Amino acid sequence: MNPSPITSRAGRFLVISEESFSSVGISSNVYVAELAGKHYLFDTSGHPDLVSFLKAANIATESLSAAFLTHGHYDHTMGLISLSKIGVPAYLSMEDADLLESIIDKAGVRDINNGKKILRELGLEVIVTPGHSCGSVCYYSADEKLLISGDTVFSNGFFGRTDLSGGSNLEMKASLKLLSGLDVEAMLPGHGFCIMRGGRDSISLALANADYLLG
Ligand SMILES: [Zn+2]
Repeated sequence: MNPSPITSRAGRFLVISEESFSSVGISSNVYVAELAGKHYLFDTSGHPDLVSFLKAANIATESLSAAFLTHGHYDHTMGLISLSKIGVPAYLSMEDADLLESIIDKAGVRDINNGKKILRELGLEVIVTPGHSCGSVCYYSADEKLLISGDTVFSNGFFGRTDLSGGSNLEMKASLKLLSGLDVEAMLPGHGFCIMRGGRDSISLALANADYLLG
């Protein structure tokens, strides 16, 4: 079957919808930023042949420079299998490194702290948001009021599961509180749809839902 990516735009990011990868079951969205002819990925889907989907979306393999992960769950990281074969470095919080063990040689994955220089060039900073997993992070642009939120918080006012290994109700609530203090309009979550307006309201709603549901 030929890869058929379902794409759209969210600001300067190309969005490759999670539905594109439905043949493997559960998958994340993939976001692609371009800078000076190079492409940078945010999450890598649950599909081990992500690179074929990128090619089909007219992203040249040679232009792929780095992948940044929001966390280590397989539905966000299986694409690393194809990326590592072509030498694209991936950055992840080392708190989540153990989650990758069955997917890819951990040695090929770099500490997110070493990716901050590239992120700065891309106008993004790391916000540490444990709760869905120990090493969950979000990527934030204050200038664009934009948050790549992984599985911490979604556009519909909900938040990620806390019942998986490394999850924590307390940390989730603290992370949502932290995020609710940011100026966010656009939200690009790990699953579901993106929004370009009202991100902060969605985060506040998620915080209220967490207070209610997680106690
Ligand atoms: Zn997850």
